Amino acid sequence: MDKDKVLLVTGGSRGIGAAVVRLAAMRGFRVILSYVKDDHAARALRDEVPGNAVTIVKGDVADAAGVARIFDAVDDVKLPLTGLVNNAGIVGQIAPFTEYTRERLQRTFNVNILGAFECAQQAVTRMLSHGQGGAIVNVSSAAARIGSPNEFIDYAASKGAIDTLTLGLAKEYGPQGIRVNAVRPGIIDTSIHAAAGDAGRVARFSGQVPLRRAGEPEEVADTIMWLLSEQSTYVTGALLDVAGGR
Ligand code: NAP
Repeated sequence: MDKDKVLLVTGGSRGIGAAVVRLAAMRGFRVILSYVKDDHAARALRDEVPGNAVTIVKGDVADAAGVARIFDAVDDVKLPLTGLVNNAGIVGQIAPFTEYTRERLQRTFNVNILGAFECAQQAVTRMLSHGQGGAIVNVSSAAARIGSPNEFIDYAASKGAIDTLTLGLAKEYGPQGIRVNAVRPGIIDTSIHAAAGDAGRVARFSGQVPLRRAGEPEEVADTIMWLLSEQSTYVTGALLDVAGGR
């Protein structure tokens, strides 16, 4: 059913994005994954997936040239883009609110908000021009409703913007057959926590989750794949928590 569907996964080389890439390729999608730094991880994932189903492209979503490079790679596939997982995201170091620097705020908002907006713009433009509609899944966070006090309120606020982007886009482009939804993962076991300066964060928070454990990237990927699939054709504008009840 999903054959010949073309999916762009931003930040698809590691963590949640990589789990989406594996699952999508297994289900017959042609996948383009973008990443920004880790060439080794991106190449290893491309080589792991059989049948040349995955193309990798290096490009910073925070920068116009990076976004242009990513969408050039999409256009090179020469098949209509029908899916976007707007997943690339970063978090600053855990710190009190008063210590966030301007540079940190700019980087967080540029990657998480500007990057997601521009990738959505590029994807919607292509979906409108081929006329087959499409599905976008924005990767938000439970942080959008929790606020992440004492850790990273800037990150949480950036994900609040992603929720609003989802609501607006779903309404604006529903009439053209483009569905737009968001997942809001909770504590998921990826290296993003170590990047925030606390490799023990997953273990520390697990006991506070109603399901009493962290989530696996594959559990988020399953939900994303459902939102992209023919099983969710009447779902749009949803903000779906994948957070173990947290
Ligand atoms: P991760 O393991 O740190 O992976 C991040 C991915 O994004 C990598 O592929 C990375 O590429 C790429 N990336 C980072 N900055 C980028 C940029 N400027 N341009 C393009 N690509 C970029 O992160 P994750 O935990 O899977 O998180 C994925 C998404 O889920 C993020 O939006 C995050 O906010 C959200 N989320 C995560 C959790 C969680 O607990 N893990 C919870 C809620 C929401 P490189 O490999 O080249 O660095």
